[in-house]
Amino acid sequence: METSHSELATLEEQMLGGVVTKRGRAIFQRGEGMYLFDTEGRKYLDFTSAQGIAFLGHAHPVMQQALASQASQLMSLPSFLYGETRGRFLRKLAEILPRHLPHVYLCNSGTEAVEAALKFARLATGRTSLVATRKGFHGRTAGAFSLTWSPKTKDQLVPLLPAVTHTTYNQADMLADAVTEKTAGLFLEVVQGEGGVNVGQTEFLQRAQQVCQSRAALLIIDEIQTGFGRTGRWFGFQHADLRPDLVCMAKGLGAGFPMGAVAFTPAVKEKLFVGAHGSTFGGNPLACAAGLTALTAYQELDTVGNALHMGAYLLQGLREKTGHLKIVRDIRGKGLLLGIELRTHVRPFLQTLMLEQGVLMLNAGPRILRLLPPLILEQCHADAAIDAVSSVLAAAS
Ligand code: PLP
Repeated sequence: METSHSELATLEEQMLGGVVTKRGRAIFQRGEGMYLFDTEGRKYLDFTSAQGIAFLGHAHPVMQQALASQASQLMSLPSFLYGETRGRFLRKLAEILPRHLPHVYLCNSGTEAVEAALKFARLATGRTSLVATRKGFHGRTAGAFSLTWSPKTKDQLVPLLPAVTHTTYNQADMLADAVTEKTAGLFLEVVQGEGGVNVGQTEFLQRAQQVCQSRAALLIIDEIQTGFGRTGRWFGFQHADLRPDLVCMAKGLGAGFPMGAVAFTPAVKEKLFVGAHGSTFGGNPLACAAGLTALTAYQELDTVGNALHMGAYLLQGLREKTGHLKIVRDIRGKGLLLGIELRTHVRPFLQTLMLEQGVLMLNAGPRILRLLPPLILEQCHADAAIDAVSSVLAAAS
């Protein structure tokens, strides 16, 4: 007998419920462009891009075609064999990366990219200490989680990696004290995404780079949430003219297909050796087909320019329609990574937006409503989101 939709939801809750909470009871079945559809046929405007990954929206025809075609030819290929699609993908990635970062390691997620960067930084410098920032987010596996600022959860999981210090974001003098001659690397987001949509000030980011250079520590920019056009430049660090030693990437790289990467300088590569690191699935043909197609589509559709333009439009619209509301404390962000800081908890509003307005959004910490839409959004989608948010927040003000 066919299992009912509601039984499937219950099963998901029972089996996966340990570390996630669900929003609503809708069961999602398919997506198309900016929208997701549930089993009842209800349509939702997706301003989460599935946690910041579906840069081309859902079921984009070029992605469908590329993945189906690659799946019919070759899905699995170990890293010790050369692959045609992998080579083509790397050539495309090299077009987009700054020229001083010609080397790449391929993996399957953001946290894996951070784990690799952490290892590479230690190998390249022969040092063990690492610096990250308060409210920073770098992933949830043990090494990456040591860098993530999450005091409450961390207390229950110590000991994690020793010799990790967290300095205050956007406080250059504190950072200058935290990074020392013992520091292997400084991990920085150019906009703290999960930690509250905190935009890194250019002077802070540039000073961080100077401090790293003066102590011979490596500057490791985590572009997992900000990369591939999210902030209106290919990489967020380009807004501040930085020259990082390593860059961590994931999310938009595969436009929804799981994929991660680290790019690094020849100086870092020189200190690596065969067997220092590796991944069974990293750089598999399906992921590389997704990455090649996604990056090509970003170039052809100018999604980076669209993120800059539509980001400014959204920010202005949100400020005009919600900035005066009592409940709103601040509205900020860069490109299509935007946050509305509330004076109260955000979760009930996320629920109302979904159930009453058919709009999906995220939080970033307890009080910040985060907008992270696909980079293909158009003015009509931005207007719909602005209207939905302003009516839900106005009702509570
Ligand atoms: N780093 C940053 C800046 C992120 O935003 C995230 C995920 O949200 C990660 C690392 C971890 O990525 P993943 O969830 O793919 O492991």
